[in-house]
Amino acid sequence: MADLDKLWLWQEARKDYRREEERLHKNPTYFELKKAKKEILAVEATVEEHEKRLRELGEKLASAELRCTDLKNKIQLLSNRLYSGDTKNLKELAGLQQQVEVMKKELESTEEELLQQSIQHDELREQFSQIKAGLKEEKNRYRERLAAYNAWKSEVETNLGILQAECSRLETEVNPDLMRLYLEMTARYGDSVLARLENNLCTACRVRVPTLLTKELHQGYGLVRCENCGRILYWRN
Ligand SMILES: [Zn+2]
Repeated sequence: MADLDKLWLWQEARKDYRREEERLHKNPTYFELKKAKKEILAVEATVEEHEKRLRELGEKLASAELRCTDLKNKIQLLSNRLYSGDTKNLKELAGLQQQVEVMKKELESTEEELLQQSIQHDELREQFSQIKAGLKEEKNRYRERLAAYNAWKSEVETNLGILQAECSRLETEVNPDLMRLYLEMTARYGDSVLARLENNLCTACRVRVPTLLTKELHQGYGLVRCENCGRILYWRN
């Protein structure tokens, strides 16, 4: 029965199609890439946070530097007045002296603060450049893997297209009544309604098929179903 040949080919093409489809949807690389992308985004957020902190610290440093310069200038001016000999009034001199002392103390603490901040700034910049280098490497790896995955995916999709066309073509060539029966039987047998006969065994349930039935099958008259599982038996030399 030529129809069974077509139906068999159709069933096998459909199984191949399902297998390819499963391969496409269950590829662990897809999930790994998704996870890697999420991680990259998280690191990028950290980088942004770092950039913000570095910027803020840089601004603090600049303002502390300005404050130091300003204090040094003021101390210089006051010292000039103090030692120029122009001011004779003792109270005024004592006042100037006190102002100089206060400013010197402030200068000292601002310089100390500046030093601490600049150490912190350098440490942060070092950490930041390491994170950035790591991120760059991670992104490169991700891009390479993604490109490989996409190439693989498009190959599988091409296969799927070919198999789909093959299924559609065969489907139109099978007797519609037989196709209807087959589709009804898929409710019970899934994608394996046809079972091959091999060494007088049904390949689906591995039960021996009686000689009478195998004879009928070999003669090619009508449909022969496995007495055990009920599938349609298919046989070809
Ligand atoms: Zn069987």
